[in-house]
Amino acid sequence: METTDFRGKKALIRVDFNVPLNEAMEVVDDTRIRAALPTIQRVIEQGGVPILMSHLGRPSDGYEAKYSLKNITSQLHQLTGAEIVFAEDCIGEVAKQACLKSKHGQIVLLENLRFHPEEKKGDKGFAKALSDLGDIYINDAFGTAHRAHASTTIVAQFFPEIKMFGYLMLKELENLNKVLKSPEKPITAILGGAKIAGKIEVIKQLMNLVDHIIIGGGMSYTFIKALGGEIGGSLVDHEKIEVALDIIERAKNTGVTLHLPVDSIICQEFSNEMAIQTVAIDSIPEGWLGLDIGAETIKLYEEVVANSQTIVWNGPMGVFEMSNFEMGSKAIATAIAAATSKGAFSLIGGGDSVSAINQFGLADQVSYVSTGGGALLEFMEGKSLPGVEAISN
Ligand code: AMP
Repeated sequence: METTDFRGKKALIRVDFNVPLNEAMEVVDDTRIRAALPTIQRVIEQGGVPILMSHLGRPSDGYEAKYSLKNITSQLHQLTGAEIVFAEDCIGEVAKQACLKSKHGQIVLLENLRFHPEEKKGDKGFAKALSDLGDIYINDAFGTAHRAHASTTIVAQFFPEIKMFGYLMLKELENLNKVLKSPEKPITAILGGAKIAGKIEVIKQLMNLVDHIIIGGGMSYTFIKALGGEIGGSLVDHEKIEVALDIIERAKNTGVTLHLPVDSIICQEFSNEMAIQTVAIDSIPEGWLGLDIGAETIKLYEEVVANSQTIVWNGPMGVFEMSNFEMGSKAIATAIAAATSKGAFSLIGGGDSVSAINQFGLADQVSYVSTGGGALLEFMEGKSLPGVEAISN
C-alpha cells in the first residue's frame, strides 16, 4: 500500500461491508465501513479510484432489496465525503461502464457479490469478470479471508503483479501474529457463545499454545453433560460429548488448565421477564435453562484473567443481549480491560463478543478488536486462510 502508485489507477478492493441494517434499511452499526476507510482514503489521496466490492447478508437466489449494497451508499458518502457511484450489478456492462466513467474523487460501489451464486462457488469466470474492473487488487476483508470465494481468493490470480493487503487486513494479521508467534505467557483463551461445533477444533489446537482455556456460554453445558452433570434444558450438542471428554482428558495430560463454570444463572424460559436463580453448574433442574455463568464462576475467571499476559476472547459467557444474563460477559470484559491497563495484550474477536464489548463501552480499553469471527478461529487453529494465501503467494 505504502509504495504503490495509485495515480490514474482503478483499485478493485474487496471490503467487508456486511453490516447490520434495521427495518428501514439503515446501517445500525458502521464499524466495518469505518474499518475499511484507511485503505479507501489512501487510494484516493494517491490519485486512484476505489472500486469497492462486498457481500451483504445471505441472499438465497439473486437480487433481494434488503441485501442491496445501495442501502449503505449514504453512510459511505457521510464517512468518506466522496461521491458514491453505485453500480447496479457487480459484473457485466453496468459495472464496466460505472468503473470506466468514474473520476478521481469518486468511489464506485458494486452491487452485492452474492447476488451471483458464482461468488461463493469461487467461479473462475466470475472472478475474471470482476478482475476486468480494476488495475490493482486489494483484499481488505479479513472477515471472509477463510473462504475461497471468487472475490476473496480466485480473483487474485488475475493480478499476478499488483495484488496486496489493505491496511485493515495488515493490522489484523499483525495483531493475530502477536498472539500466535510471540505471545507473552501466561496465555489465556476464553471461549463462549452458543455453538460448540465450530469451536471445538480450535480448543484442541489452542491446547498447544495456551496456558489456560476458559469455557463459558451455551457451549459449556456440553462439557458438563459429558462429565455426567444435570443440565436441565440448557443447550447441548450430543454429537460433541465425546470430543468434549477428549478435551477434558487431554487437558489433564498437558500443562493446560481447562476452566469450566462451577455455577450458572438459570431461568425457566429463554426470556428476560422470568425469575432467575443461581445453582451449581451440574445441578440444573429439569425445565430450567442455564443462560449465564454465576458469581462463583465469575470470581474464578476474573482471577485467571488478572494473572494473564496474553488474552484472546471469542464468544460471550451468557445471553448478554438480555440484561438478566449479561453479568458474566460484562465481568469478563471488565477483567480483560483491567488486565490490559496493567500491560497484558488482549484480542477480542467474533461478532458477538465484539457486540458485547461495545455494549459495555469497553472496546477502546482492550488491545485489539478483530473484525474476524470464523476467520479468526481458523487462523488460531493454525489453518492457512485462502484469502491470505492468494496475496502472499
Ligand atoms: P456463537 O454464534 O456461537 O458465538 O453464539 C453467540 C450467541 O450465544 C449469543 O447470541 C448469545 O446470546 C448466545 N449464548 C451465550 N450463552 C448462551 C447460553 N447459555 N444459552 C444459549 N445461548 C447462549
